Amino acid sequence: LNRRLAAFGTTIFAEMSALATATGSINLGQGFPDTDGPAEIAEAAVRAIRDGRGNQYPPGPGVPELRLAIAEHQRRFYGLSYDPDTEVLVTAGATEAIAAALLALLEPGDEVIALEPYYDSYAACIAMAGAVRVPLTLRAPDFRLDADALRAAVTPRTRLLLLNTPHNPTGTVLTPAELAAVAELAIERDLLVVTDEVYEHLVFDGSHVPLASLPGMRERTVTISSAGKTFSFTGWKVGWITAPPALVSAVRSTKQFLTYVSSGPFQHAIAEALALPDSFYETFRADHLAKRDLLADGLAAAGFEVFRPQGTYFITTDITPLGEKDGLAFCRALPTRCGVVAIPNQVFYDDRSAGAPQVRWAFCKRDEVLREAVARLGRL
Ligand code: PMP
Ligand code: GLN
Repeated sequence: LNRRLAAFGTTIFAEMSALATATGSINLGQGFPDTDGPAEIAEAAVRAIRDGRGNQYPPGPGVPELRLAIAEHQRRFYGLSYDPDTEVLVTAGATEAIAAALLALLEPGDEVIALEPYYDSYAACIAMAGAVRVPLTLRAPDFRLDADALRAAVTPRTRLLLLNTPHNPTGTVLTPAELAAVAELAIERDLLVVTDEVYEHLVFDGSHVPLASLPGMRERTVTISSAGKTFSFTGWKVGWITAPPALVSAVRSTKQFLTYVSSGPFQHAIAEALALPDSFYETFRADHLAKRDLLADGLAAAGFEVFRPQGTYFITTDITPLGEKDGLAFCRALPTRCGVVAIPNQVFYDDRSAGAPQVRWAFCKRDEVLREAVARLGRL
């Protein structure tokens, strides 16, 4: 393994899911639902395969039906208008979108300001591009974006801001004022913004505001999302970007040499999913709000300090009240102690001591599974 990547090792998600399987534990670690998405959407994928739609290489930018559905989704929810032919690109999940965007837009030595704690692939992809990560730390208990710290982090080498809202792992949803501060700085310093909005339909207070919808931002913003989260088919790996033509074209240049194209039949099925009625999206959100509260209350009763998230399907906690201080050691021991798996947030920080006592729990699970997990944690 080359020097750029040697530091990254195996992702925490693979390590903790393997531990869950090996110990037969309840897996509240890696973020995937334990119930598949709508049966009619699964049927749509089967139909596409049977009908021979997408069984051979689909078009490089993605199947036209899906690009149209993505553009229509941006219009329907946010009033944003994107040309499905030149301003939409389908990727193999948001993961590929992140990699392709960073590899396309960064020169070696460029600085990227990214919210910390960060989703783990950000750091690895910045390193693959030979660029430099500059963390902007969200601090407990509120995990707010500090606009002054953001401004102070910009240097003449800064090329790009890498945002994530709703934010994994903290559950922070950037406020209109925070988004405005980001936009003002990006415009003033002529920066590009890559914004990961995969949890756009899991905002519990108010509604999601895409950064691209702020004045002056559409032309400099690459917006990333994924069907995995919204439609509960994480294994299908259908993601996308929306951006102006020059940025889409740049990202497409890298994507063509990463995967060339993404899997065809699933794209047809997700085109149908995006067109589901508002009631689907409302139920998805309401179900997860109830699950958030079920798990948050349970974790609080079990003695954790709970930072109730405004979005995503993750809850960050602090283990200090349990007499613990190292989340990584805690998470490695937890399956044998009580049969539950979680994720230590410290691996998402450059300065691991900053997030040492933080542990993340996924609540995209059936209620009885959450209740059983809470019962087990109560016996710690
Ligand atoms: N970004 C964030 C913030 C995530 O939590 C995830 C995890 N699912 C991804 C990107 C990757 O998404 P996908 O599974 O579509 O590759
Ligand atoms: N995004 C998921 C999480 O944050 C995991 C995805 C992965 O395993 N790479 O838990």
